Amino acid sequence: MNHKEALSHNIFKIISKSAAELKLDCYVIGGFVRDFLLQRGDAKDIDIVAIGSGIALAKKVAKNLPNKPNVQVFKTYGTAMLRYDDIEVEFVGARKESYNEDSRNPIVENGTLKDDQNRRDFSINALALDLSEANFGNLLDPFNGVTDLKNKIIRTPLNPDITYSDDPLRMMRAIRFATQLDFIIEKDSLDAITRNNDRIKIITNERIVVELNKILGSKTPSIGFLLLEKTGLLKHILPELTALKGIDEIEGQKHKDNFYHTLEVVDNISKHTDDVWLRWAALLHDIGKAPTKKFSKKVGWTFHAHEFEGSKMVYHLFKRLKMPLNEKMKFVQKLVFMSSRPIVLAQDIVTDSAVRRLVFDAGDYVDDLMTLCEADITTKNPKKFNKYHNNFKIVREKIIEVEAKDHVRNFQPPVSGEEIMNTFNLKPSKEIGIIKEAIKEAILEGEIPNEHEAAFQLMIEKGKALGLKME
Ligand code: ATP
Repeated sequence: MNHKEALSHNIFKIISKSAAELKLDCYVIGGFVRDFLLQRGDAKDIDIVAIGSGIALAKKVAKNLPNKPNVQVFKTYGTAMLRYDDIEVEFVGARKESYNEDSRNPIVENGTLKDDQNRRDFSINALALDLSEANFGNLLDPFNGVTDLKNKIIRTPLNPDITYSDDPLRMMRAIRFATQLDFIIEKDSLDAITRNNDRIKIITNERIVVELNKILGSKTPSIGFLLLEKTGLLKHILPELTALKGIDEIEGQKHKDNFYHTLEVVDNISKHTDDVWLRWAALLHDIGKAPTKKFSKKVGWTFHAHEFEGSKMVYHLFKRLKMPLNEKMKFVQKLVFMSSRPIVLAQDIVTDSAVRRLVFDAGDYVDDLMTLCEADITTKNPKKFNKYHNNFKIVREKIIEVEAKDHVRNFQPPVSGEEIMNTFNLKPSKEIGIIKEAIKEAILEGEIPNEHEAAFQLMIEKGKALGLKME
């Protein structure tokens, strides 16, 4: 593919002309060039580096654009941003960077294009296309980034130990790109990440989560989690997952390695959903197994109540990583908490009442829960694999059936507490709870339909049995 085609959008001509007016050179650099050469679709983010003031160039470009967009200036960073069509263009002056031990924020000076390429994280991210009128479209590739793109390799431009130690976020970025692009991290780089893994502690949790979400959002997230584990980064950021590693054996009884099982589940679910929160649920569905693991001679290995433990751990993990403690977290918690429920169904004959209870408890999350449980089938025994999948198919069909008939998904009691109080002339009391519970149970068991008439009759029966008198 001819890289000059990357600049076919008229914005590049306008940037070029504006730079000529200011008598400075400028280049499009980084992800835009990389993604064009990889044919990853039309990139919407363009990074421009100017040999001179990026802010002045942004203002000039805005004047020359037909829609005269606003320029957002970030003075502290010396950058400026504007939007044109659906494209976001960021301008920065070329810079040279040096670092302190305790911060990933560099000391910055003005620099040349070469200085600016040196500060880039990977050879494939240092590619630049010249926008000057004389050399329009020339590719500047000082670190053989194009070869690395061809060979699918992540490599740092300079000594990897320095690159990763200077800004440890790059360790996460290396693994994220390896996962997104299905690239290999070159050996010296991988060793340097391993040596520097504890430097990750100077990175904020928010930044780490951005990268984790990108890894989880990839086609095969296990690539990233295996690399995070191998380099020792995972134990710093998600120790709950590394705790799942390993197989114990006592008296010839083994349990499965729940870390590798988890990664299989995450890859499986990623074939069926792009919802990153559902993928988080898959990643965390077994974390309660490490603290609840026990061995007894009678029953072998057990993970009693690991779903409950796991759902509590979800809260602490989200809090630690500064992830949102909102309905997304509650969704992940609920799925972890319920993650074994459909499995039990799949092993047995699927009854209507069991399905009704599942729908009642899972509410609107029931479809996602089924998707998680289907992904959780990692048995290598084809007989079991087919049996579980077939049973889940039946469960899915019954969910639709039961829902059409009984509407228990967002259950509203067909007889209200107020109606019970009025009928039996009661003040708020425990009898109301007992009657309501009996009605709910009868509906879930399929003894009565979820309708007012039938529920009202049952209320009268139960009230009488409790010795209550009607008004
Ligand atoms: P994506 O859009 O998929 O995140 P990107 O490479 O465009 O990929 P950005 O974070 O927008 O990612 O970064 C733009 C460019 O800035 C990169 O291509 C790279 O050249 C440079 N860059 C970003 N972060 C770093 C970093 N931590 N260290 C060195 N260079 C970086």
